[in-house]
Amino acid sequence: MPPCRTPRAWPIALALAACSPPPPHPDIFLISLDTTRADAISAWGMAPAGRDDLRGTTVTPNLDAMAAGGVRYAWAFAHAPTTLLSHSTVFTGLDPHELTIVRNGYPLGPSYETLAERLKADGFQTMAVLGSSSLARPMGVDRGFDSWDESFSVARKHRHEATAEEVTDRAIAALHTRSSTAPVFLFAHDYDAHGPYQAPGKGRFGAPTAPYAIERLTTTCRTEGCTPVAADIARVRGSYLDEVAYVDEQVSRLLAEPPSRAGRIVLVFGDHGEALGDEPHRPFGHGADVDPFATHVPLILVAPDLAPGVVDTAVGLQAIGPTLLALIGDTRPFGANIDLGRLAGAPGIPVEATQPGTSGPGWNNRSNEHGFIQGNAMVIEAPWLDEAAHWQHVDGAALPEADPQRPALLASLQDWMARSPAFTTAHMDAATREGLKALGYVDE
Ligand SMILES: [Zn+2]
Repeated sequence: MPPCRTPRAWPIALALAACSPPPPHPDIFLISLDTTRADAISAWGMAPAGRDDLRGTTVTPNLDAMAAGGVRYAWAFAHAPTTLLSHSTVFTGLDPHELTIVRNGYPLGPSYETLAERLKADGFQTMAVLGSSSLARPMGVDRGFDSWDESFSVARKHRHEATAEEVTDRAIAALHTRSSTAPVFLFAHDYDAHGPYQAPGKGRFGAPTAPYAIERLTTTCRTEGCTPVAADIARVRGSYLDEVAYVDEQVSRLLAEPPSRAGRIVLVFGDHGEALGDEPHRPFGHGADVDPFATHVPLILVAPDLAPGVVDTAVGLQAIGPTLLALIGDTRPFGANIDLGRLAGAPGIPVEATQPGTSGPGWNNRSNEHGFIQGNAMVIEAPWLDEAAHWQHVDGAALPEADPQRPALLASLQDWMARSPAFTTAHMDAATREGLKALGYVDE
């Protein structure tokens, strides 16, 4: 049956007989690239994952093509360098202090409206396919999804995972269960760029035979500290890029699915970055730092009638929900209601690495970094680490001592810190705690 073209002059009865109505909204695909730094995506034009020798080499041809046809947000920032909190900012439109998720394993409370709940109310069939147990059901981010696929084939000590190929297969299978009339909201979570870096097939950028040696190196560095040599850093970065290239192929496979007749909105983002030998104290992994290597992430938006372009203003991931809702005409406030299309006057971007402390008072961030971004300038401090505040442009260039943005940035950060929530302990019943222990999220 052909789609309705709804020529106004047609008699209604004839129009009904001649066609079926398209879904009232385009589909929405929200694709999360876990642990993916912006510089790993070739469209960003940077040294891939910091590998100067690969500058100009294409790592991600499919995401590059998507970026060329859509809006690329050159300076998008995750509000937190951990999976659950970062995704929760996306799913609620709120920043870390409004959420009080201290780390992975502290669930999103039931009082928050989620993007999936809103889209379901807007008539969408909502489906999610997970790549890791970091977002498993007990974390509360499944609310609003009609289907939530968390079948993981890879069992590790602290989490369970599915490969991007499995996530893509299941996402495609889920799409084939769609109703004929409702638009689809699909959340797909590709976890592969998270360590360990063991991309299927022969490595293109890394040492093809040494994934376990690299895992040993990065794990030892995280737990015991280390001073990696340049050759080790290059191998780690290469193996990481192999994972990003693999995910790029799988995203392409998902996007090859035909769109509905009403079209499709696709938004791809990284939930946080990854240290790849970028700084000496914590050379690998993520969770404690908010520097750009940990928080500068890819963000690409493609939508019907949206002109391609590049946005050079820094943006935060909490703007994703309100933006998607605005694109389908749902203009009711959502979260803090910061919208990528209405950035003028936005309050800036707080970034914070939180973790459980042992006692109050205050928010549980005493031993990690936090920061604030306004315009394209950033301040980072960690007073409890005896780390003095340091200022920089988001591209890493130093912000001169006399730059008038320095005091304004620090004042914004302090204002945001003054609005920290109270100290939070994990409020879990016995069953939830046992479930989280099984997932490796809580130790005691
Ligand atoms: Zn993550």
